[in-house]
Amino acid sequence: MLVRPRHTDTSTSRARDSIPFNDLRRTAEVDEDTAAAVERVVRSGWYLLGEETSAFEREFADYLGTDHAIGLASGTDALELALAALGCATGQEVLTAANAGGYSTCAARRRGLHVRYADVDESSLLLTAETVAQALTARTTVVVVTHLYGKMADVAAICDVCHPRGIRVLEDCAQAAGARTNGSLAGSVADAGAFSFYPTKNLAALGDAGAVVTSDDDVAESVRRLRQYGWGAKYKVQQDGGRNSRVDEIQAAALRVRLRELDGRNRRRREIAARYAQALADTSAQMVHTGEQDYVAHLAVLRSPRRDELAAALRAEGIGSEIHYPVPDHRQAVIGAPSVSLPVSEAASQQVLSLPCFPELEQWELDTICFVLAESV
Ligand SMILES: *Cc1c(COP(=O)(O)O)cnc(C)c1O
Repeated sequence: MLVRPRHTDTSTSRARDSIPFNDLRRTAEVDEDTAAAVERVVRSGWYLLGEETSAFEREFADYLGTDHAIGLASGTDALELALAALGCATGQEVLTAANAGGYSTCAARRRGLHVRYADVDESSLLLTAETVAQALTARTTVVVVTHLYGKMADVAAICDVCHPRGIRVLEDCAQAAGARTNGSLAGSVADAGAFSFYPTKNLAALGDAGAVVTSDDDVAESVRRLRQYGWGAKYKVQQDGGRNSRVDEIQAAALRVRLRELDGRNRRRREIAARYAQALADTSAQMVHTGEQDYVAHLAVLRSPRRDELAAALRAEGIGSEIHYPVPDHRQAVIGAPSVSLPVSEAASQQVLSLPCFPELEQWELDTICFVLAESV
């Protein structure tokens, strides 16, 4: 019989043999550069829309290869303001997936938009040109495509279906910072991209923050106005529907530091996900995504008909796991669309299980999780 790997480093106070789903303290403890950047802002006396925000916006746009990045207060705000800037008006329809956490639904409903759902592909659990084409209606104004778990959907093919009909496409890149296909980064392919920098995302702030990215000058201008009361110039309201949704200087300064580390950290995430795929090969459970540059392993998600038993087996060994996501949007009580049927999304919600996947996960922890999985599947 195999022997369960053990924690051998006695120099830390970490609970022995308990493996968290995520642990941001491990990043924070050694992050001197971010601490110095925060201190710089505190001492500067300038806290909103200053040099750090402009610098981050420029550096992030350069990294992605877009003309613009506009820093906002959260990822959900980024979705909402991007929908407005892409021309969605009250009563119009947004098409999206129901298995992606409900963020697009939340943003669209705040804007008074009707949300319609397309089912996802059976193997990737992502929207595809085919599933989108089947679900479009004459009222669809924008399609929101989520790069779920950090795997890029084929947005170019979805644009090919949508653009000839005058429908615009928004990428939800909250889980996919740094993912690329054929040299194009997530967020740079469709009409605009929305990012969240929530503290557990691949590119993480120290609180809430988000951004819209685009190479469309009009969309960028519109988002810039909407994030600050609709102002064109100070105190001059030029666009209706504005809000206060600014990123703050502390978050922008932290994000500048962390942007430099993004590719390296994504590499480690990808290695962890690949190790799980190896451990589960030839078992009844499978990882949903593997891959190279097009997968940044925001989440390492397995799929099994015995999901709940696997989660219990991990829990019994002190290993954290999560479900992303247990309730598809159209089955949420407040959305209430019981007549809608999305068989792939519904089945997946019963079978997916996310495993610990963060750059500071230690090798003994990864070995232990793989050991417990191999014993349990
Ligand atoms: C986290 C997340 C969001 C929302 O971001 P917030 O910054 O928490 O508002 C949107 N979409 C997806 C896919 C996410 O994972």
